[in-house]
Amino acid sequence: MLELKPLWEIQVLDDQKRSLEQKLRDAQISVELRTLKREIESGRAAFNKLKEDYASFKKQIKMKEMDAAAAAEQIRELSEKLYSGAITNVKEIDSSSKKLESLKDKVKRTEDEILAIMEQREELRARLEEMSSKLNNKAENYRQKHGSFLANQQKIRQQLAQLPLARQKLMDKVDPDLWNNYMSMKKRFNDPLARVEKGTCMGCRVGITFSELRLLKHGEGMVFCSHCGRMLYWER
Ligand SMILES: [Zn+2]
Repeated sequence: MLELKPLWEIQVLDDQKRSLEQKLRDAQISVELRTLKREIESGRAAFNKLKEDYASFKKQIKMKEMDAAAAAEQIRELSEKLYSGAITNVKEIDSSSKKLESLKDKVKRTEDEILAIMEQREELRARLEEMSSKLNNKAENYRQKHGSFLANQQKIRQQLAQLPLARQKLMDKVDPDLWNNYMSMKKRFNDPLARVEKGTCMGCRVGITFSELRLLKHGEGMVFCSHCGRMLYWER
């Protein structure tokens, strides 16, 4: 009695191996993950650029505050001079008063400018916060997807790692002549062994003859499909 079952199972196993290896190659990093990664990177670059603007606003405010403070100090000194009676010359009093007015204007103007910059800075801060939260969400999304991608790859590798032992166990049960025959047919077919279902060779989908079926059911030797030439396997 020719036992074809182990050989059939080896063929199924080799087929699984091929498709698992294909899965590993195809998976790579999905387009979605790559797009997400690019979005995160460009988002971070834009975020950092705005952060620099935010810092420069801070510097601008500080400089204007120093200008205003210096002008305020001048105002204080000049006022003191004017009202203490230290200046008696009319012309000098006049020019000092004018100077005082212009200094007060300057302080007022600078304070307005500081307020405007502060407003811009607040707007920018809100935008930065929004960007940061979006970026964090994206990064978390990426982390999860990437994690499940890696887990899936790992699962495929584990499945692949189990195949050789299972295959060896089956090999031990395969008749050597049958194996040699099978291997030489491998040059022509990916799947030299074809199962027969409802009187049809599943390799070429053509019905087999009555005598082929009879031989198969007797199970006393190799039977080949007269249409495609594959070795036929009939599951009892
Ligand atoms: Zn066939």
